[in-house]
Amino acid sequence: MSANEDTPPPTEKPDDDGSGATGGKEEDKQEDESDLNFLQRLLAQLKPPTASEGVEKEKPEQLLEEVTFEGVANYIKKGKCKNIIVMTGAGISTAAGIPDFRSPGTGLYDNLQKYDLPHPQAVFEINFFQSMVLFNQQSNPEPFFMLAKELYPGSFKPTISHYFIKLLSDKELLLRNYTQNIDTLERVAGIPQEKLVEAHGSFHTAHCLDCVKEYSHEWVRDEVFADKIPTCPDCKGVVKPDIVFFGESLPPVFHRCVPQDMPKCDLLIVMGTSLVVQPFCSLVDRVPATTPRLLINKEKCGNQPDFFSLLMGGPASGFQFDSDDNYRDVMWQGTTDDGCVALAELLGWKDELLNYVKAEHKRIDEANAEAKKPSAPEKKGGDKEVGNSSNEGSEAEKQNKEASNL
Ligand SMILES: [Zn+2]
Repeated sequence: MSANEDTPPPTEKPDDDGSGATGGKEEDKQEDESDLNFLQRLLAQLKPPTASEGVEKEKPEQLLEEVTFEGVANYIKKGKCKNIIVMTGAGISTAAGIPDFRSPGTGLYDNLQKYDLPHPQAVFEINFFQSMVLFNQQSNPEPFFMLAKELYPGSFKPTISHYFIKLLSDKELLLRNYTQNIDTLERVAGIPQEKLVEAHGSFHTAHCLDCVKEYSHEWVRDEVFADKIPTCPDCKGVVKPDIVFFGESLPPVFHRCVPQDMPKCDLLIVMGTSLVVQPFCSLVDRVPATTPRLLINKEKCGNQPDFFSLLMGGPASGFQFDSDDNYRDVMWQGTTDDGCVALAELLGWKDELLNYVKAEHKRIDEANAEAKKPSAPEKKGGDKEVGNSSNEGSEAEKQNKEASNL
């Protein structure tokens, strides 16, 4: 299992070679040598494994015919994987017009100046949102709900990347989609709920922070759009969408699915995430050692050596794109929509994917136009209602069109 299986444990001394060396000096010498060996072995374990030692001997079986994008496509095409796990981040939603709002400098935070936040991320910190009786701190959920109004799901259309994952699901190749996104575009794209792990929660449901009563996202949205802080009619507690704030633990479904799914994964596709948020980013190391891993992202990432793993003499963790020993990690650099179209093309699914995107976007636009009609009785709730800004819609369309013109 570990890279140092062939190295005796550090405490083991060399066997008596039967040379009859029994003199005190000889013994001292042997003692010194074993101490030296011990130190050498220890140092060897502390050193990162290199191409010429350790890891190479234990290189797991290479499942890809070639460690390239084409190699991954052929692997899928030849039916060698049936349990694909797709991990996604903000990058798959940017083409829909959703800003990466967790990062300062997106413009969204400028609107929050008046709230005098200690720092921009405070808006997503549970201690800031929720009153802390212990510290006699005032709760301040207002900035979050102001930001939520601008980000509210229902304003955006899923991207090509979302529909590519839906296609994997339709073709019964998708084991699970782990997403860090809270925009619910996976649900809008029709990825079945049982195939979805929203690792950072979502706006889909909400709970009263005091009495834990559940509220629908429609109810919360109506409150937010009426510029009210959603407040539990029963107990007057603040009702918070079930998105994971900084300082909160990940939803139970994440902890339930990870140990079941990861050992079964026969292809890992990571898209649109810079893999910096734990524990999400460590999942790439939870799949079997033979499992090919494809990263579709604007920047190369996830190849940081895990210091702890190196210290323990274990194999290097994270992606190994540039390693001489790389036998399974493939990087496709660019937007996730472009990457999905490129992969779909190699798989012979390109037309199917783009026609599907076109039909779904048309359906969504029509539903929105219907909802916006003055004669419409009232705004309909539900996941399928999207696009309350024609400007955002056309921008997303433009980008999706650009992607399809590859
Ligand atoms: Zn309540």
